Amino acid sequence: MLQEQEVHAAEMERTFIAIKPDGVQRGLIAEIISRFERKGFKLVAIKIVVPSKEFAQKHYHDLKERPFFDGLCDFLSSGPVIAMVWEGEGVIKYGRKLIGATDPQKSEPGTIRGDLAVVVGRNIIHGSDGPETAKDEINLWFKPDELMATKPLSREEIANTE
Ligand code: UDP
Ligand code: MG
Repeated sequence: MLQEQEVHAAEMERTFIAIKPDGVQRGLIAEIISRFERKGFKLVAIKIVVPSKEFAQKHYHDLKERPFFDGLCDFLSSGPVIAMVWEGEGVIKYGRKLIGATDPQKSEPGTIRGDLAVVVGRNIIHGSDGPETAKDEINLWFKPDELMATKPLSREEIANTE
């Protein structure tokens, strides 16, 4: 008999997480991935990419009126970024908890920014802030075939596991 949680895994929540150029340059890739892995979240997509400035502007389009927008987009496109999709129950909200507050001066110790960053303009990591942004950001950074499939099981497949 198929376990209930296996069926739920087919529709599991996903979020977009990026290690920004400062995190990559400082050698924090493994440290950051390890925190998400140890928590129990599942990596379903990963790539290293240098985004163009135009792409960075798309990613941060919500912030285009803010005074730091231009510098932020210049910075995101200044070097390699590790783009990832993580999956798991509550991963959008809890991912933000693992990351910590936007300003590392206000991030709690124990969080990624709290432990590893000092200033807001170099806070090493991005995480989607809600279900809609998660969907949009995953679609912006990844093609569907770059994501590990956890497709819903058909009725036949479910019946065959009994
Ligand atoms: N940022 C900045 N100055 C600010 C606020 C934000 O440079 O006063 C940068 C910072 O790198 C932050 C990014 O803009 O991570 C996006 O801002 P947002 O408010 O979405 O924060 P986040 O979701 O990354 O915590
Ligand atoms: Mg944000």
